[in-house]
Amino acid sequence: VEMITVKDLNKVYENGSIAVQALRNVNLEIDEGEFVAITGPSGSGKSTFMNIIGCLDRATSGLYILGGETIEDLSDNELAAIRNRKIGFVFQSFNLLPRTSALKNVELPMMYAGIGKKERRARALDALERVGLGDRVDHKPNELSGGQKQRVAVARALVNNPSIILADEPTGNLDSKSTQEVMDLFKKLNEEGVTILIVTHEKDIAEQTKRIVSFRDGEIIVDKESIEA
Ligand code: ADP
Ligand code: ADP
Repeated sequence: VEMITVKDLNKVYENGSIAVQALRNVNLEIDEGEFVAITGPSGSGKSTFMNIIGCLDRATSGLYILGGETIEDLSDNELAAIRNRKIGFVFQSFNLLPRTSALKNVELPMMYAGIGKKERRARALDALERVGLGDRVDHKPNELSGGQKQRVAVARALVNNPSIILADEPTGNLDSKSTQEVMDLFKKLNEEGVTILIVTHEKDIAEQTKRIVSFRDGEIIVDKESIEA
């Protein structure tokens, strides 16, 4: 089943008299259940692409269909609703509330979604179990290792049952042991059916996914199966 369809996508940033074309005629299809690495040098358009896929920004021209919905046709409010319902974000710097337990951090997106206290707690506990942190729910971020912090962030991304997880350099702040811990978690979730896109600079991370899409100067220059797939 097709999850993401992108046709002739262009993005131009206009700053006064200067225009930067960050994406040029990008075409891509991603199916439900894929595990994709987005790679390329700094400035190649990865963040721009992920921001559009995550419904944080809009393309200048072209078509983007997410789970059957044509994104161009939506108002900003509808776009925000799609983002909250369909996308789970994971960031390089975790973005956890520091003085707040793992459990409360994971409950946060459900508070925005207006879900009641009892259900929030049950779903947050489930998500923390799912990422292997059932025994750390009352720990605060500074009581957790880097890998554990990122697993809390993954639990938070999962909790509204998104169609896709978008992770921007999720291992960029982690040592090699924690990096492997987080990659093993993504592999497990993908085997359970979760669609995952990760941006990474690191070749050995990209090779742990199933498909590698590489950008250069705003264009896709490589789209291939990973050697491990
Ligand atoms: P990457 O994530 O691969 O480093 P980006 O998508 O951040 O690439 O950037 C692609 C190009 O678009 C770069 O030339 C960058 O300087 C430019 N760019 C990104 N964001 C903006 C912006 N908000 N305004 C102007 N130019 C931008
Ligand atoms: P990354 O670490 O993902 O490559 P960047 O350092 O390229 O990110 O960009 C960080 C932020 O700055 C992004 O939100 C991007 O939109 C913005 N940005 C990048 N390049 C420019 C630019 N030339 N002008 C204005 N904003 C930019």
